[in-house]
Amino acid sequence: MENCLFCKIRDGEIPSSKVFENDVVLAFLDLNPVNPGHVLLIPKKHSETLSEASPDDASELMRVVPMLMNSIMKATGASACNIGVNNGKLAGQVVFHTHLHIMPRFENDGYDIWHGKPYESEDRMKEVAEKIRGQIPA
Ligand code: AMP
Ligand code: ZN
Repeated sequence: MENCLFCKIRDGEIPSSKVFENDVVLAFLDLNPVNPGHVLLIPKKHSETLSEASPDDASELMRVVPMLMNSIMKATGASACNIGVNNGKLAGQVVFHTHLHIMPRFENDGYDIWHGKPYESEDRMKEVAEKIRGQIPA
């Protein structure tokens, strides 16, 4: 994929601090980390968003996540981490090559997680669940 930042990082055309790779995925440091040790994990094969990635690529990304989390936590001394995916522009995605953020967390580090809001009614909640079930492929 031409002009894709993460394809260029994969190919070594743009420098990065790689921390792990295998045949399918690559992990490197985010340039603007939430905390030091914030890693981006990408499939080597270009896809724009996780929802468009192949199930095999998505599986491999998630298969290596626990190992990477443990390595990052041991290396940084963090006792917790967040996994984040910005899937699509409205969700905050800026680089359109599928990636997962793995972010080590520290006491009072200022990172804010999402704030949920309850459904207006139980019926509305049932309706939403029913709609999603209706979209699950057979
Ligand atoms: P997202 O908003 O999920 O698309 O996140 C893109 C991430 O890529 C941001 O956290 C950026 O800090 C990071 N980023 C942008 N350019 C580079 C780069 N050249 N090397 C490493 N990380 C980068
Ligand atoms: Zn790409």
